[in-house]
Formats: sequence, structure tokens, C-alpha cells
Amino acid sequence: MRWYEKFDEWAAEQLPEMTVLKDEPLSRHCSFRIGGNARRMAFPRTAEELTRAVMFAREQGGAPLLLGNGTNVLFPDEELERLVVATDELTDIKCQGEVLTAQCGVTLARLAVCARSHALTGLEFAHGIPGSVGGAVVMNAGAYGGEIKDVLVGAELMTEDGTVRFFPVEELALGYRRSLLSDRPECAVLSATFRLSQGDEAEIRGRMEELMARRMASQPLEYPSAGSTFKRPEGAFAGTLIDRAGLKGLRFGGAVVSEKHAGFVINTGGATSADVKELIRQIQQRVQQESGILLETEVRMITEEE
Ligand SMILES: Cc1cc2nc3c(=O)[nH]c(=O)nc-3n(C[C@H](O)[C@H](O)[C@H](O)COP(=O)(O)OP(=O)(O)OC[C@H]3O[C@@H](n4cnc5c(N)ncnc54)[C@H](O)[C@@H]3O)c2cc1C
Repeated sequence: MRWYEKFDEWAAEQLPEMTVLKDEPLSRHCSFRIGGNARRMAFPRTAEELTRAVMFAREQGGAPLLLGNGTNVLFPDEELERLVVATDELTDIKCQGEVLTAQCGVTLARLAVCARSHALTGLEFAHGIPGSVGGAVVMNAGAYGGEIKDVLVGAELMTEDGTVRFFPVEELALGYRRSLLSDRPECAVLSATFRLSQGDEAEIRGRMEELMARRMASQPLEYPSAGSTFKRPEGAFAGTLIDRAGLKGLRFGGAVVSEKHAGFVINTGGATSADVKELIRQIQQRVQQESGILLETEVRMITEEE
């Protein structure tokens, strides 16, 4: 029996309420709108269901992949022989004074709006980042001078052996677009706790609107993408280096270097994963020739390996 046949039997018996999709197109679940089918995709409704599904699939060789909002991933064009575990249904938020605790599937937009409704300041920077709380902890997402690290108290993680423990922020090794989970991809973020400060609701709203306007003016939000394709190299900006190398508008298949923001590779229609990877390769090569700097991708390339 294949891992997914065993998973189907187990899930039907043990977690009959959990949605499991067969051969689900991953292009539906990522902001790039690219990707082949996932052999199986599960939608646990509780942290316990998530933990059990991940552990069972791992034991059977299903190499589970946790997925948040899919805004920083590039899936392969081929079938992905893994269990993709969506976190969309884990959406509780609790507010106690200046402390917010959110499950991994809560979007940053919703979390920031929740903070604003309690006149709590600190998450304005995150309002326009299209990811989930889980993905934001994994990536230490940040924008306009703020990052998750600044407001995070800690996160509840499921570790490799299935145990669940609260990790204070110091243990999460958050750095520029990385975390402990970058080295330990078998862990899952179940929830995260943020400490904010009392502020003024109108000011918070004003700051969010200002940042959203800046984002809309500078980013090609009308096209599918995964945001900034590359990490910011030391002492430079990827977009500026790409622009200086004359690469705005460079195309491979349906993948194009945005004219609006050279740091974004966009899908102008029908781009494949192979198109994006080839365009990334060309950008890296040309930028290295021009500036001597090798750009490192920020987008996570999803493969069969965990
Ligand atoms: C238009 C656009 C603008 C963007 N702007 C910004 C920006 O300003 N700043 C910024 O930092 N990023 C930005 N991004 C990138 C992206 O939104 C962030 O990296 C975000 O944190 C990813 O969250 P996600 O839920 O979409 O993660 P996903 O893309 O779903 O996953 C990213 C990685 O995290 C893992 N993961 C996700 N959830 C969990 C979990 N619960 N447990 C364990 N692992 C998990 C995945 O396996 C994957 O390796 C932008 C993206 C787009 C499309």
C-alpha cells in the first residue's frame, strides 16, 4: 500500500470530520498560482488534528508540508507526493489585555485589524503582508521597519517527535527572513503570542492606510507573485541591483521581472515553476556578473524532500 492509501484509511476512521482532498491543484493554494497537484491535502480543524495527521503521514512516508497562505512558496510543476497540511481552518484569536494569541492559520491582515479594534499598536507593519501567523513566524516576516520578532512573545510548536511546547522568542532564533524552523522544517507552528502596546485607534488606522498606499504604489499587486523573490543582500537592495543590471521586463515563458518593482518575479499568465526557476537563474547570473553579488532566494522552493 502507498502512504496515501494508508492515510486515507486512517483519516476516514480516526479523523472523519477532517477534509482530505485528493490530487488537489496547488496552483489554487498559492499566490503565484503555479504548481502541480498535491497527492493529498488535509485541512485539520484543531491543533490536535494537525499534530495527529502530520505524525501519521510522516510515519507512512508522506513527508508532510505545512502550508500557510502560500504567499512565499513556489510549488513544482509535477505532482507533489507529499501530504500538504493546510492551516486555513485554525483561525482562533484571543486577546488578553495587551497580549494577542493567534492560531497559525490566522492571516496577518486579520490579526492586525483585531489589534487595531482593541487600540493595540505594534502590528501595523504586518497588515499588508499577505501571509498567515504560522508563515510569518517561520519567515520572521517584516516590512517598513517592523518585523515579527519585535512583537512576538513566543510560539507553540509541534516538534519532530510530535510533542507540543511553547518556545519563548529567544529560542526561536529569529533573524532576517529566517527562524529555528528554517533548520527544523519538521516542526509546525501551532499558535503565536504577541505583546503589543496601548495606542490610539485612529492613529493605528492612519498608519495602516499609509503603509498600504505605499505598498500599492510600489508593488505589482495586480499580478500573481510570491512577493520579493530574493532576500536583501548585505548593504544593498535586490530590486536596485536587478534594475541596474537592466533586467526589468526580462521574460522567460510566463514569468517576468516586474517593471514596477524589479525585486518581484510575476506570473503574467500561464507561468510554470520551470519558467520562474529559469528566470531566477538568469537574474542571479546577470546580477552576479554586474555587481559580484549572488542573490539568494527568499521564496521557498518546495521539493519532495522535507
Ligand atoms: C504581494 C506580496 C507581498 C509580500 N510582502 C511581504 C513583506 O512586505 N514582508 C515579508 O516579510 N514578506 C512578504 N511577502 C511574503 C510572504 O507573505 C511572507 O513570507 C509570509 O510570512 C508567508 O506566510 P504564508 O502563510 O503565506 O507562508 P507560506 O508561503 O504558506 O509558507 C512559507 C514557509 O513557511 C512554512 N509554514 C507555513 N506555515 C507553517 C506552520 N504553521 N508551521 C510550520 N511551517 C509553516 C511553509 O512550509 C513554507 O516553508 C509578500 C508576499 C506577496 C505575495
